[in-house]
Amino acid sequence: MKVNLGGVVPLSTVDWFGVAATVFFLRGCPLRCPHCQNSHLQTGETPEKLSVVNEKIQEAAPFVNAVVLSGGEALMQPSATEEMARFARELSLKVGIETCGYYPDRLADLVEKGLVDKVFLDVKAALRDPEYARATGRENVASRVKESLERCIDQEVSLEVRTTIFPEMPSSGELREIAGYLSRRRIEALVLQQGLPKKNEFEPLSKERLEELASSIEDLIKVSVRAPESLG
Ligand code: SF4
Repeated sequence: MKVNLGGVVPLSTVDWFGVAATVFFLRGCPLRCPHCQNSHLQTGETPEKLSVVNEKIQEAAPFVNAVVLSGGEALMQPSATEEMARFARELSLKVGIETCGYYPDRLADLVEKGLVDKVFLDVKAALRDPEYARATGRENVASRVKESLERCIDQEVSLEVRTTIFPEMPSSGELREIAGYLSRRRIEALVLQQGLPKKNEFEPLSKERLEELASSIEDLIKVSVRAPESLG
């Protein structure tokens, strides 16, 4: 089996906050988010043997507690994600998956097989078009994301929902909609992440502004802000 592998970060403590993890970036994504930080991973072919990828997991195992499967969209390669998760599990590593929620059945299948300890799911905009299409460059994505959320809730897998905030989206009204939607489904917390520019096309929101936005939805959901420490 081959893995279309875009890259590896041997040690990260920010993808799974507070957990030392090796992050594998799988190439390929069904979405085209305008501010994508990994646009070089949306397409292309850089196949790597699964055995070589598993060696990388094995080499990392003494130094980390977890493997995070990221992308691109890891679930575009369901067999590869399953095999990598299985191998990590054999080494007693936890497995996290960062996903855009486009493949609810594939996500649920991995969870059902007991191969996922934590799901990190991006909710990028109010869960309807045209807002979601604007944020992802694709139509009819919101229903898939809702389905992914519902499946995670039904399966009672540990879930972190994240929304990345750019200057023009999502709007504060959309953010309240997202928070309301999540809280109605008894999802307890939302993480706001600072959206960064690919080059210098906009000024990222300050940590203070992100905290203001967080305060504006605290009546609906527990919310935390993640922004680089350099912003204080
Ligand atoms: S889902 Fe993630 S990897 Fe895919 S286009 Fe959007 S930001 Fe990029």
